[in-house]
Amino acid sequence: MVWMNVHPARVFEDLVISEDRHLVSDLESRAGGSAPTDVEYRIRRADTGALRWIARKGSIQRDESGKPVSFAGVARDVTDQRAARDALARSEERFKTIVETIEAAFAVVEVKFDADDRPIDYRFLEANPAFERQSGVDLRGKWVTEYAPDLEQFWFDTYGHVAKSGEPATFESYAEAFKRWFDVRAVRVGDPADRQIAIFFSDSTPRKDAERRLVELKDTLEQEVQARTTELNRLWQTSPDLLLLIDFEGYFRRVNPAWTSMLGYEPDELIGHHVNEFVLTDDHSETVDAYTLAAEGGMPRIVNRYRHKDGSVRWISWVAAQGEDVTYATGRDVTAERQQAAELAQAHEQLRQAQKMEAVGQLTGGIAHDFNNMLTGVIGSLDLIQRHIKTGRMETVDRYVDAANTSAQRAAALTARLLAFGRRQSLDLKPIDVNGLVSGMEDLLRRTLGEQVALETHFATNLWAGHTDAHQLESALLNLCINARDAMPDGGKLTVETANTHLDERYAREHTDVSPGDYVVICVSDTGIGMAPSTVEKVFEPFFTTKPVGQGTGLGLSMIYGFARQAGGHVRIYSELGQGTTIKLYVPRFEGEVEVAAGEGRQAPDGDGETVLLVEDDPSVRMIVLEVLEELGYVSIEASDGRAAIPILQSDRKIDLLISDVGLPGLNGRQIAEIAREHRPELRVLFITGYAQNAAVRGGFLDRGMEMMTKPFAVDALATKIRQMLQGRN
Ligand code: ADP
Ligand code: MG
Repeated sequence: MVWMNVHPARVFEDLVISEDRHLVSDLESRAGGSAPTDVEYRIRRADTGALRWIARKGSIQRDESGKPVSFAGVARDVTDQRAARDALARSEERFKTIVETIEAAFAVVEVKFDADDRPIDYRFLEANPAFERQSGVDLRGKWVTEYAPDLEQFWFDTYGHVAKSGEPATFESYAEAFKRWFDVRAVRVGDPADRQIAIFFSDSTPRKDAERRLVELKDTLEQEVQARTTELNRLWQTSPDLLLLIDFEGYFRRVNPAWTSMLGYEPDELIGHHVNEFVLTDDHSETVDAYTLAAEGGMPRIVNRYRHKDGSVRWISWVAAQGEDVTYATGRDVTAERQQAAELAQAHEQLRQAQKMEAVGQLTGGIAHDFNNMLTGVIGSLDLIQRHIKTGRMETVDRYVDAANTSAQRAAALTARLLAFGRRQSLDLKPIDVNGLVSGMEDLLRRTLGEQVALETHFATNLWAGHTDAHQLESALLNLCINARDAMPDGGKLTVETANTHLDERYAREHTDVSPGDYVVICVSDTGIGMAPSTVEKVFEPFFTTKPVGQGTGLGLSMIYGFARQAGGHVRIYSELGQGTTIKLYVPRFEGEVEVAAGEGRQAPDGDGETVLLVEDDPSVRMIVLEVLEELGYVSIEASDGRAAIPILQSDRKIDLLISDVGLPGLNGRQIAEIAREHRPELRVLFITGYAQNAAVRGGFLDRGMEMMTKPFAVDALATKIRQMLQGRN
């Protein structure tokens, strides 16, 4: 649109936006002749308010003197051209940014041909920064031969062909001049006559290097494999151990030469055969388990026995591992080790046997010695009694009777101990008030411990009743205190505690000789010398003692152990050298109602014609018992065995009590009692026994109205028992 200068210039100039006002000429600048003649500025149209770009070209006319007289100009709306120009500039800017920043190298080159139209050089018209980075040089505007005069002809030919034919090329090649590999794509650009091409490329040297190294590595790997194979072959050939490939069904696939040297078989006698053809029958199933386990991916380790071709036996220790479809196994000949181990075990066994014999010898010697002493006491006294009676010196007889009695008591005590650790004693299991039992012994214990050892007792309140033999428990406690005293030669403190405790399943599993359940525990602790672990291990063995000859019997703890076990209890030792010892005695809890023991009862009048049948095969025991019966005023009938006793029992004679030995020729005491009870169901029976194997625990042996006494017994005790039994009936 063109405005003719028919309006005053001011009307138009007022439309120019304020930012551009300074670009426009005004009256003053025109009059002064300094008005700009070629400007572009923006106006806001009066009608639509739109912003438009205006280009104005003008000229100043002057008179002869050079004074400006008028200003003539043309103004054109150039808004559209301006927009197109800006778009182009932006697009160029965008491409430039891309080309400048992409990682791929990019260049535009012009290829030069010689007179025969052969490509001989090329020049870089454009190159982006990546190009410079990858080629390592700035070649913009340069001919490539300036930089690389010896460039391979290949590059000229390739680029020449693209420039001439317009066929793009994609290739990878090495350029010695750049010492690099390039991955290239070349395409023709622009007018074909210009012979210009664009090339995109990237440096592929690192990838090529990696490829080369991989190839080298593969080569060395092959060499390596070759070398290893040779080594393995040598091992296979020379190994002294059996090497074996065996299939999952147990058939030999490959064997090494060691098979021939160790077991005498040639490879063809083995391959294809089943392993168990060579293994001793007893080891077959274990062998099958082993190769089956290997087939399932396990790593079996077994020792089995192979038969050498000459018939002898070899112990082979195997390890195996699964392969693809076969198991690899290595076997070592351990025959010699096995033999040595067996010999060693035998030697140990012999040694143990010898030690045992020695112990038994010591025991026998010891007991014989003790018994001889006691017998001397008895026999000597009897001898003297006889002589004194003969010579009428009756007043001294009593003294010798006492001496004989003491010796005999000691002998009885010794046998009791022997029986205890043989667990052959007969126990009288009853509900026991353990606190009462211990406090009842306090005096005795204090006297035993002497002045140097302080005794402390802690009694649990609400202590359960124990179920045990009171007598044996007392003797065990006394023994523990004596041991503690011996362990505190310079004095110390002994603590006796009682407690309720529960031993659970786990404790029972960990200690083989315990059943789970409730126990009353008596805990005896001293502050003495303690024991080394190796000693603790042995203290329960009969005759184990660390005390000098004549002082220790080594029977104390073994007795306690035997008693505890037989009574369903348990003993534990905790000891540390120099720190002292704690021994815990577990007494099974009595399950049931505890009867309050009845008072002693009135003293019984002696027998008034009641009749007692005595069955006893030992004449001297018989004599003593008859003596007692007579003294007590009972009528007695005697029989030496069942054969003599049965007719009497089946007769109608009045019999109030049967006293019978348990171990008798023919019918035993228990059987006699049974037969007697058929006829006389209310008959009371008192058994007297040396030791009753099947009467170890009275409860199981004795029926209602039956009681038992253990030999040897004091005459007084027998009298009391008989009296009680006959009174109880009334
Ligand atoms: P003895 O007392 O006749 O030696 P025991 O069977 O009673 O036999 O004890 C065996 C051994 O156990 C003792 O010789 C002693 O070495 C050790 N021993 C027992 N009790 C204790 C204790 N409280 N402290 C240290 N050692 C003990
Ligand atoms: Mg002892």
